[in-house]
Amino acid sequence: MSIINILYATVANKCPRCHKGQVFVNNNPYNIKNGVKMNERCPHCGLKYEREVGYFYGAMYMSYTLQVGVFVIMFALNTLWWHLSNRLLISIILIPVFVLFPVTFRWSRILWISFFTPYDKSFAKESEQ
Ligand SMILES: [Zn+2]
Repeated sequence: MSIINILYATVANKCPRCHKGQVFVNNNPYNIKNGVKMNERCPHCGLKYEREVGYFYGAMYMSYTLQVGVFVIMFALNTLWWHLSNRLLISIILIPVFVLFPVTFRWSRILWISFFTPYDKSFAKESEQ
């Protein structure tokens, strides 16, 4: 499990095991109709994304971590440069939290899958033959 492999799969919407198939049906997280629709299995290697019922409850931890990261970055920016009041800062923080929600939703699920499914080169090469 390498950080580079996990980051690539997460940002590129690729299967964590083969880095070929897409996890979500649509690459655009802001697509209202299919933005959160996942493939049941990887179209390339056949990995079943939702291993069991409730599997993605764990992705909430990833989502929480990502959102806290946004809060910490905004708080640090405020402490160092902006010096806004707490009410204004919280109002401003909520903007990227809501705007980035579709992205963090997808990233958290792919990160969660990556925790249990490491990248395997043999699956990436399998159907290239
Ligand atoms: Zn795959």
